[in-house]
Amino acid sequence: MTWGKIVQELQLHALMTDGCVEVEDTPERHDLLLLKLTILSSARFTGFAQHQTKSGLESSSQKGTSNRSRRVTIASLLPSPIYRSASAALLEPPGAAANAANETSGLRLRDSFGRAITDLRISVTDRCNYKCVYCRAGNEAASYTELPIAHYLRMVRVLVSLGIEKVRLTGGEPLLRSGLVEMVAELAQMRTAYAADGTRLDAREPGQPLDIALTTNGHLLESLAAPLAAAGLNRVTVSMDAVDPETFARITRVPGSFQRVLAGVHAAQAAGLGPVKINCVLLRGFNDSQIEPFAEFSRRQAVVVRFIEFMPLEEPSAAEDARTWRPETVVPMDEIVARLNAWRPSGLVELPPRTASETARRFTFADGIGEIGIIAPVSRPFCGHCSRLRITSDGALRTCLFSHSDHDLYGQMRRGGTDEELAAYIRRVVLRKEARHHIGEPGFEKPSRNMVHIGG
Ligand code: SAM
Repeated sequence: MTWGKIVQELQLHALMTDGCVEVEDTPERHDLLLLKLTILSSARFTGFAQHQTKSGLESSSQKGTSNRSRRVTIASLLPSPIYRSASAALLEPPGAAANAANETSGLRLRDSFGRAITDLRISVTDRCNYKCVYCRAGNEAASYTELPIAHYLRMVRVLVSLGIEKVRLTGGEPLLRSGLVEMVAELAQMRTAYAADGTRLDAREPGQPLDIALTTNGHLLESLAAPLAAAGLNRVTVSMDAVDPETFARITRVPGSFQRVLAGVHAAQAAGLGPVKINCVLLRGFNDSQIEPFAEFSRRQAVVVRFIEFMPLEEPSAAEDARTWRPETVVPMDEIVARLNAWRPSGLVELPPRTASETARRFTFADGIGEIGIIAPVSRPFCGHCSRLRITSDGALRTCLFSHSDHDLYGQMRRGGTDEELAAYIRRVVLRKEARHHIGEPGFEKPSRNMVHIGG
């Protein structure tokens, strides 16, 4: 192994962890170089990996007599052309050995980059009652099957035993799924399996209830908000891409949809599911006129509005009103911030992040009324902090929205896998979690499923 390759590996680590790396070598031991890599970015990503390599290093750093330490910050590494060509050239991914050991040691689930996997998104149906022009081709049918709720619950139980703490129910449209309230009630009985410091809890020491959230288009929320809250749902995110009813109906391709969704938002607030989050995907030249009206909506309706950059995850469609992804269609974070700063003379006031892995940058206004979040996976990717795993309606595990293949977890169950076997399978799959997405890069290939068939 050459010093160059070691440095490449460290650069990859730094890139993926959004942090900096500290390299310490011990040149007095010529046949053994101990690389100590400390990922310093955040509490969640504080990780530690060690590599012991044999001699044969071409490094001038070997020539020194005392220990040296060198710190490389992420700022000096980005954008790194090394990363793109790295995968084949690199050594075994850092942390892989540690993860293989985890399989038996009962450590919490981590991927090969040291990212703890704590969040699960589960699509409970592939069906949707909206046909949003930037999401679906416009046909009604589901492309993938759905499983009995009991199967999803078994998968969740196994995943919770590995370290999952948050479960978000999504789809398709999750409120179309019968048995959803009962599913939430079952999820509310589960307890986390690890303490905050990563130590495993045992039966005498029950963990915390899961954080249970729902992403919905809100069309059926008016009648379901109260039963879902009573069953144990903690939070709801409602997708709304316009506050102008006509534009809204044009996007969803469902007449009268705005009024239905607004009633759903109000019902969720009344059921104690506030502050309700509203997700708005912005498309330039289509609904970007809604930025300021949405800010006003946040202030008036006491909801958190989150603008999301459009990603290349739409179903291919020949429909005249279909919207397809192009780089120019994305309304980037900086532009949204500039627009809102211009909208009110006192401008936006940034709020501190609540956790290091928070995907949204949060803002309010000078008077503290209203909250705006901006989620910028395209202009400011946050893959380095990704803690997510997804289960599709047909029971496949996906390690990234942009994965090119799924992992058939349900297939393992169908073949009679025990919980231990499912856990081992999940650990193996998680080791293959992608470092990051490649939106906007030359050679980008669309993933094997579109957003609606994954569960956003
Ligand atoms: N039916 C539910 C809903 O409407 O919230 C859940 C599924 S929907 C696919 C989840 C979220 O993904 C919605 O907020 C939707 O706007 C968002 N979404 C769909 N396609 C997207 C894309 N290409 N880029 C970014 N977000 C997208």
